[in-house]
Amino acid sequence: MSRYPESVDVVIVGSGPAGATYARILSEEAPDAVVALFEVGPTVSDPPGAHVKNIEDPAARSIAQERSEGPGAGADTVSSPGAVTSGQRRARPGTYLLEEGFQEPGEDGMPVAAFSSNVGGMGAHWTGACPRPGGSERIAFLPDLDDLLDEGDRLLGVTTDAFDSAPFTALVRERLAAALDDGRPPAQRVQRMPLAVHRRDDGRLVWSGSDVVFGDATRANPNFTLYDESLVTRVLLDGGRASGVEVRDRRTGELHTVRAWFVVVAADALRTPQVLWASGIRPDALGRMLNDQTQTVYATRIRDAESVAPAGASGSTAEGDVGVDEIVDGAISEQSGVTWVPFTDEVPFHGQVMQLDASPIPLADDDPVVPGSIVGLGLFCAKDLQWDDRVAFSDDEQDWYGMPALRIHYRLTDRDRAVLERAQAEIVELAKVVGEPIGDRPFTMPLGASLHYQGSVRMGETDDGRSVCSPDSEVWAAPGVFVAGNGVIPTATACNPTLTSVALAVKGAKRIASDLAAH
Ligand code: FAD
Repeated sequence: MSRYPESVDVVIVGSGPAGATYARILSEEAPDAVVALFEVGPTVSDPPGAHVKNIEDPAARSIAQERSEGPGAGADTVSSPGAVTSGQRRARPGTYLLEEGFQEPGEDGMPVAAFSSNVGGMGAHWTGACPRPGGSERIAFLPDLDDLLDEGDRLLGVTTDAFDSAPFTALVRERLAAALDDGRPPAQRVQRMPLAVHRRDDGRLVWSGSDVVFGDATRANPNFTLYDESLVTRVLLDGGRASGVEVRDRRTGELHTVRAWFVVVAADALRTPQVLWASGIRPDALGRMLNDQTQTVYATRIRDAESVAPAGASGSTAEGDVGVDEIVDGAISEQSGVTWVPFTDEVPFHGQVMQLDASPIPLADDDPVVPGSIVGLGLFCAKDLQWDDRVAFSDDEQDWYGMPALRIHYRLTDRDRAVLERAQAEIVELAKVVGEPIGDRPFTMPLGASLHYQGSVRMGETDDGRSVCSPDSEVWAAPGVFVAGNGVIPTATACNPTLTSVALAVKGAKRIASDLAAH
């Protein structure tokens, strides 16, 4: 007996923040619609989709991370000290790397392109930074973008005050603001980073994952069902329009057909085009204009900490060593204020600055670290978009799941290299503004490390052959099929993209809800 229904109104493929957004908006605005969400990975947290950082027991947390790592489960990750600087290709905990096809001869490739396969997707492992796009990062043909971003904030539970009590956070912000704010409009000045996190009444931090996006509205919806360990192998079309999906039950290996009026593919920026390709939906722009954010990181130390230390924040020694990689992702603790230096077209970097528990470089034993005084800086650069940068798929070779194998074609242009060089110089200046730089020079992350792959199923204002979907995220070539996630973003962004993807998913979900109402 199949555990799947024969037909539903809407199928959602993928349970990361983008897929969860469709489930939530449909639960709120079309509660009578029958919705099935298929997720290839297992459920690793409770409630389903919850961030694994909320799992208190470290052993249980690492099991949840490992179960999210698909074919990479058990491989070494960047968590081991020095792993990133050693030059080895390693994934972050909870993610796994593309093993083949990440770099073509003579190209830069994306050596650390990564995925998560679990209920909640990468949203069960992310840092939760939710800045808004500014300047050329914004999608000019969406007049309602700000309203959609507000909805994104609501769904992701974004706050700005969770770290207000972290030591030195105000000081870091003041120092950066004094150096950078002159001439910037208010929205683009140095400020607290909006984060998908909140504090419980007992003071504990709770990180938002897809569970927060689903919300009670989805969990209480009797017409919504999430099926984990279910691989959607292709979208079915009837007369060119969505008619359902083919889905493989990974528990039994059996293949089933589920009919649907609408299919939303929210399978991340590399696998959403994979599902379309496997379905024979192959517009020219599919997989193209692929872009990621080059990223340079550095650390600095507030040396005059003693004189400016808040009460109770001096004297103790932080334990341990974090990887350079952790400067921008994942090492947030109680000591971490997170400061945002917004992107502008004139200064084309997005800055994420946060206090670390420990130094990325081991400090001398007789040199105790004041909590919060080691500050990690990360600058992300927007890509110079190129048609030839793309994820391509094979009709002959298959990946570990049996889907068309991926091959990434990716090059940095001269402009990309010039912007990166400028970022490397800028980050040294910022490190000096905040404190005393640690280490000789900034570290530039291997390509793919930002995990912010975009553009592969990009949105366009019109069907001009340069885009895959409409402003509502409906695939031009396949009515009734919607795409979601960072791949939909058509602009070159430097800021973390999830809030924007969720905002775009809100728009698509509202369109489906209104079509269902008119049905
Ligand atoms: P995902 O969350 O990747 O979910 C896609 C889901 O689709 C996966 O669960 C996958 O298993 C499933 N799937 C794929 N193919 C199929 C198929 N054929 N059938 C069924 N299911 C399928 N972003 C930010 O904006 N800010 C940050 O601070 C930030 N920090 C990060 C830190 C880390 C360590 C990581 C790992 C990521 C971070 N990101 C951050 C990126 C962020 O997590 C992603 O942008 C976000 O999760 C994308 O959401 P999504 O729903 O599009 O895709």
